[in-house]
Amino acid sequence: MIFRSSRRIAFFLATLLQLNLFAIRDSAKAASSLAAWKLGNDGVLKLRTSAGAKLQAYFAYADAKKGDRVWIDFPGELIRPRTIQGNGPVDEIRLGKPHNGFTRLVIEFKNSISIDPKKLVLKGTAPDRWELNIVGLPDNNFSNIGEGDLIRRSTPSTYLKPNYTSNNSSNSSNLPEVIRDKYSIVIDPGHGGRDVGAVGIGGIHESDVVLDISLQVAKILKSKGLKVIMTRSAEIDLDLYPRVSLANRSDVDLFVSIHANASRNKRKDVNGIETFFYSGAKGYKLASYIQDQVVRVSPGSPDRGVRKSRFYVIRWTHMPAALVETGFLTGRMDSSRLAQASHRNRLAIAISRGILLYLKEEEGR
Ligand SMILES: [Zn+2]
Repeated sequence: MIFRSSRRIAFFLATLLQLNLFAIRDSAKAASSLAAWKLGNDGVLKLRTSAGAKLQAYFAYADAKKGDRVWIDFPGELIRPRTIQGNGPVDEIRLGKPHNGFTRLVIEFKNSISIDPKKLVLKGTAPDRWELNIVGLPDNNFSNIGEGDLIRRSTPSTYLKPNYTSNNSSNSSNLPEVIRDKYSIVIDPGHGGRDVGAVGIGGIHESDVVLDISLQVAKILKSKGLKVIMTRSAEIDLDLYPRVSLANRSDVDLFVSIHANASRNKRKDVNGIETFFYSGAKGYKLASYIQDQVVRVSPGSPDRGVRKSRFYVIRWTHMPAALVETGFLTGRMDSSRLAQASHRNRLAIAISRGILLYLKEEEGR
């Protein structure tokens, strides 16, 4: 039921779900056509999609477990399903992969909120823009939630990339709180001294970049009540063995090594974020939290994922350990960002947030 002439999409009640999805099953497997979204505190959901994308919209009333919810399906598959904590009337927002080849954006409201589905219409405002006025939300008592750049013009195939204007990624004041004076961590800025690590565009040195980020991570985590030990806090040579033995000797809870990447043949078109772990569910989880946050502050830079690796420092440390590659110093996009102090600050906050979220989840277990 897509009224393409007027580009107004009425919301189906969830009971019709099966039927309607069936009709669009043969959609090509491609990147998500959802490029950016924002739920503003005026109750208006704005979407940017690839031009001409066919959307389906649904509504379900609250049940015993969940509040009222609105969801929209987009052709094209999401890379990384995720849940974003809501605020005010919004319980949470989920981005998922309901079926192969689709992306689903779900807004779930708190139990106290009741939405009238008859008043919901998703309007196309441009070939790549959509608006849904969610009537009945209390005014202005929540902050904007969103990901990606709504302003940019969409090309037929765009990837969903979170950006750092979304309200939960760019400032350090709203970082998660964990129990103070309980946890300890080793932060390991890669390389150092004569070992400058990767040398990037314009001669930028990995050792300098990662030291700056690491010192900021240490400062943030200390302010949250963690005991932080740095393997180095200046430009000195440091072999791999002492980094590991420091962590093992100090019996810290976590080990995080911070690096920046270089591609073979210094290809300028190779950019992206990746985080490594060696083994274990905890190492994987720590790496996943960090990866997720760093990707959020690096819009447009590919998410190369969480990967298993035998890097010395994460292989021989006895505690959950991760090694994050904050971008490619040899890549055109990443290197110009890594050269900016403001971006290094965002990275430091993102890495800290990932670590704190990991600890917080461990606390809740
Ligand atoms: Zn390195």
